Amino acid sequence: MADAVDVAGIVAWMNGFQRRVHLEVTYLTDLDSAIGDGDHGVNMDRGMAAVVAALGPAVANGSVLTVGAALHMVGMTLVSTVGGAAGPLYGTMFLRMADGLAETVQLDTDGLTDAFARGLEGLRARGRALAGDKTMIDALTPAVDAMRTAATEGATLAPALAAAAQAAEAGRDATAPMLARKGRASYLGERTIGHIDPGSGSMAFLVAAAREAFGA
Ligand code: ADP
Ligand code: MG
Repeated sequence: MADAVDVAGIVAWMNGFQRRVHLEVTYLTDLDSAIGDGDHGVNMDRGMAAVVAALGPAVANGSVLTVGAALHMVGMTLVSTVGGAAGPLYGTMFLRMADGLAETVQLDTDGLTDAFARGLEGLRARGRALAGDKTMIDALTPAVDAMRTAATEGATLAPALAAAAQAAEAGRDATAPMLARKGRASYLGERTIGHIDPGSGSMAFLVAAAREAFGA
């Protein structure tokens, strides 16, 4: 596999994420039933079905030609189709990832790391959550840190994304003992302790799907 992410790679990534979310609707919904309103799996499944339906055809017919245009389409689709907190949050993440990439047809490890870092910044700005608040940020932050370390050491995409996927899973698992301070779960206070945050669960799937699409 070429050591770069192109527009076909973004399609493969989104197709893989959609398949995973669809397979794990019940898992994500169960996580959200414990500390929220039980809709996270359904929300993400609806959004990713819309992303897959829009993106593949747009790339095939040549209306989406760059990495930035593809990421932008993902973000716009999620913002407009996913209800609840997660839609605008994931949507903002992808829109920020797209920033500056409108003419870009290939991303290397540094470029992909920069894109994920922008996405994380966008999430932070939009949700105003800090690390440790028990949100999807707690899965994405260690993943971006791991990618940055790997990229700085000159790693290719495969080891960088392997490290990122592992870090995202560890970050997800580390949300269990946290007390939720943002979003719907924060209303439950102490009762959130002992449960994994649903958004960190879907975020770990997103990073795992990137590993599968770009890092094989
Ligand atoms: P809703 O909470 O509106 O039902 P979802 O169930 O789809 O939306 O998504 C819930 C997830 O969104 C949480 O598990 C958490 O990871 C994430 N989340 C909620 N609020 C914030 C926030 N302010 N910043 C970051 N992530 C958040
Ligand atoms: Mg919910």
